[in-house]
Amino acid sequence: MKERSPVLIVGSLAFDDLEMPYGSFKDVVGGAATYSSIAASLLAPVRLVGIIGQDFEQKTLDILAARGVDLAGVERAGGKTFRWAGRYSSDLVTRETLDTQLNVFADFRPKIPEAYRRSPFVLLGNIHPALQVEVLDQVERPEIVVADTMNFWISGERAALGEMLRRVDLLVINDEEARQLAGCHNLRRAATAIRALGPRWLIVKRGEHGALLFDDLGMFFVPAYPLEDVKDPTGAGDSFAGGLVGYLASHGHVSERLLRRAMFFASAMGSFCVEDVGPRRLLEVRKEDLRRRLDAFVHMIDYGGDLPFAEVAERP
Ligand code: AMP
Repeated sequence: MKERSPVLIVGSLAFDDLEMPYGSFKDVVGGAATYSSIAASLLAPVRLVGIIGQDFEQKTLDILAARGVDLAGVERAGGKTFRWAGRYSSDLVTRETLDTQLNVFADFRPKIPEAYRRSPFVLLGNIHPALQVEVLDQVERPEIVVADTMNFWISGERAALGEMLRRVDLLVINDEEARQLAGCHNLRRAATAIRALGPRWLIVKRGEHGALLFDDLGMFFVPAYPLEDVKDPTGAGDSFAGGLVGYLASHGHVSERLLRRAMFFASAMGSFCVEDVGPRRLLEVRKEDLRRRLDAFVHMIDYGGDLPFAEVAERP
């Protein structure tokens, strides 16, 4: 039976300055929780917890609210919103962080509103792992807890990260982070090592090379959708995670089978995100666009039944 459940998303809301090989963009609305919320809200109701400063426009909040994002958990503090600046390489594959200004984010202690405490689907965006644990201390045991993290916490906050990993069901990180966390280059071995630290499921994102899910059933792969024009990869990973949890929440439960399907919704949302600067394209995406992109995925990988090994085996 289908029952759309709410998704609780905790993380950053931001302004980003982006230096792309073809031009610069200032004060772009960003933040991991922003991207995840926009992606998830196409599929399920979202409850957002984060912090903004005086400079974050009401207009942006209205856009989120109009998509079914509940903003009761977004605190407006005195001061400026978190700011991040990055510069992308000419092929848009790598980027360097030019500046991070925590501003009001420096004092962020997630307070989960009473009405959010029984959220069955929880997405912990990339914040200090101790704060991710604080969120889990405030909610009743959800159906699934999905978490992201980054190199900064992996290298500097190992103890807090360990506690977080023991308490999450699904960790979604990129290949570099997986290698760093496991201390080994081979991704299969890294996945086994990371799952031994707690998460039952692990997704390793590999940018334009797709993503791998590791669980008790083995491995599952989803490609990235090959686009002719990539404009801005910022937030693609967060959109991936939002699409993934949004899809699971749209079913109201989790299973290995649903997770495999969710990987396609996740990859589709990531692909929309990179089509324009900031969350612009993601905000325009309608269910019909998503359906067409999912069809394109199926078309791309459908080989028409079993691989006919017998034909080859029979030949001398
Ligand atoms: P992604 O491209 O998926 O890594 O996400 C990029 C978004 O993460 C940007 O919109 C940034 O505002 C936000 N971001 C960058 N650094 C941090 C950080 N240290 N903590 C939280 N959010 C961040």
